[in-house]
Amino acid sequence: MGIFDKFKEFTNQVSEIENHLYSGKKDFLEIYERNAQLEQEIEERTNELNEANRRMLTLQHIWEMMNSSKPLSSILDTTVNNLQGELGYLHSCILQRRNDENGEYFTVMASSNGNLFDEINQHLETPINTQRMNFEQASIIKAVLRNKEILQSTDLRAGLNSIAPDLPEDKVEELLSETACRSFMLVPLSKMNHFGILIVLSQRLEATEAELDFLNIFAQQIELAITIADLFQMVREQAVTDPLTTLYNRRYFEDSIEKEFTRANRQKQPFSIIGIDLDHLKQINDKYGHVYGDLAIKQIASVLKQNARSIDVPARIGGEEFDVLLPGIDSKGAMIAAERIRKAIEATPIETVGTITASLGVATFLEHANNVEELMELADQAMYHSKRNGRNQVTLATPISEVSWQEVALNAFNDILATGRINVSDEVKHDLTKKLQMAIEQNSNPKDTLYSVADTLATTYNPLHTLGSSKSKVIMATTLARRFELEKDDADKLRVAMLLYDVGNLMLPQEILQKDGPLTDEERAYIENHPRLAAHDLLEPISNVKDIIPIIEKHHENWDGSGYPNKLAGNDIPLSSQIILIIDAYFALTEPRIYRKALSPYEALDVIKADANKKWNSTLVNEFVKLIEVELRKAG
Ligand code: GH3
Ligand code: MG
Repeated sequence: MGIFDKFKEFTNQVSEIENHLYSGKKDFLEIYERNAQLEQEIEERTNELNEANRRMLTLQHIWEMMNSSKPLSSILDTTVNNLQGELGYLHSCILQRRNDENGEYFTVMASSNGNLFDEINQHLETPINTQRMNFEQASIIKAVLRNKEILQSTDLRAGLNSIAPDLPEDKVEELLSETACRSFMLVPLSKMNHFGILIVLSQRLEATEAELDFLNIFAQQIELAITIADLFQMVREQAVTDPLTTLYNRRYFEDSIEKEFTRANRQKQPFSIIGIDLDHLKQINDKYGHVYGDLAIKQIASVLKQNARSIDVPARIGGEEFDVLLPGIDSKGAMIAAERIRKAIEATPIETVGTITASLGVATFLEHANNVEELMELADQAMYHSKRNGRNQVTLATPISEVSWQEVALNAFNDILATGRINVSDEVKHDLTKKLQMAIEQNSNPKDTLYSVADTLATTYNPLHTLGSSKSKVIMATTLARRFELEKDDADKLRVAMLLYDVGNLMLPQEILQKDGPLTDEERAYIENHPRLAAHDLLEPISNVKDIIPIIEKHHENWDGSGYPNKLAGNDIPLSSQIILIIDAYFALTEPRIYRKALSPYEALDVIKADANKKWNSTLVNEFVKLIEVELRKAG
């Protein structure tokens, strides 16, 4: 082999080696590349897994909260904050669609701590969280609720317009130019009471499929939380016992007494009620703290339980008020039971506080009254008698006196209608007279008749008058009379006055009463004087109501002397007149007028509080506010 051949062979070998090396390198590069790909894939999968894991944890967190029976608002707050924080959205909120007499609207149920709403709020008069959002203007939200599908959108302007239509255009521009948000998603919550929507704001232009799936699951979770909260609420409402004492609650007591009444009325058998009120609980609270006040309440509860037969119904009616229903027991037996309870309370001192006492009242069906409402009232009156008489004692009710306040009022209405001098159509006059006479003759349902007559008359001079308020007014007057320890006779006069204080209005011309706009000075003077004079004229000839005329005549005098007609001040104004003034004001404020909307009960209370020591005595304001707040709490 020549040198040339050798060289050729050599180069062949070299190129073979080179080839080998090359393909090795290629292999290596391929492997390297594949590795890099795999690594990237692993990283992506890990990210996805982490993301899924975070989502699962978020769901688990919410699930745990739902099981801990936390209030719905705190569950939803955590939910939206988790969405924002753990899952990296910019903002998240839940809107609820609601409905009232003014139409449909949205409210914010929960909103994450993101600063979007804060920024919007800076440019709005009322914060967005407390606003009624106009349903009609929220077109994209409406579309989502209709289609029941997630909507992804990059049209931030439309989104902003839907939730804050009042935002000025330049602020919209400002917000849009500054925000890192690039898209948002609207997730329908279709199982919610009136439908709702979950909103999330994202930094990404588009959501992944997995993300959308997750948001759907998340929405179901929110719906579940709301459903569970509704169920809890229902269970709470259906509960029959009071949580602090485990005695029966007011609702159960009222149901029981109605059932007992039906049974006893049929068989003409007695049953009794004992009303119990802890003495000086306020002092115990003030001196030792609420915990000891609660202890005193629990102590009474345990005495009541120990002394109850299995068919008795001991109940906690309010804060420190208790009632026991004793089926089949007459007043003699009930007095013995009540005295046993009183002694047991006195004989069992409580830790730190020492001896506590209670005041009791007893009333018996058939002996004292023949309907539940009066029976309860009489037991209450008897209990207050025990209080006035020095506390720590039992009082038996006295039957309703021969001429009750109801009869006085029935006859007064009857006489007023008979004068023919009032602005009421003959037809209405005839109807009311017939009703009144039936009630007078048969002595049946005197109160129902009274209230319906008073309501009908009130609507003839004020069509915006709320039916049923005559009854509420008398009940409130009765409670205040008790709080201020009015004698029975004065309390009766107050109730009659409460029904008649506005009868003078029946002689006012309709043009003034219905006037749509402010009154002239002349008209105002007329309204201030005429009804008063008319009431005087109407009531003067009716012998039984003569002595309520001064109460009615002074019910426009103010505590600071700024009222009319005589600018009386302070204690020169009868307490009964002040009570009428405050109750009348409350109902006037909560009823609509031609020139303004009705105020909510709390707004009305604020107006009344603002006039403490001006229109009315501040002690009266305090008692009145307490009374209304108790009513509102009862009404839930
Ligand atoms: P009286 O002997 O005239 O009944 O005096 P009192 O202080 O018991 O009565 P008052 O009606 O003036 O006050 C009742 C107080 O009871 C006021 C309220 O704060 C307190 N109270 C009501 N419910 C509860 C409760 O559940 N726990 C506690 N600790 N106090 C309560
Ligand atoms: Mg008390």
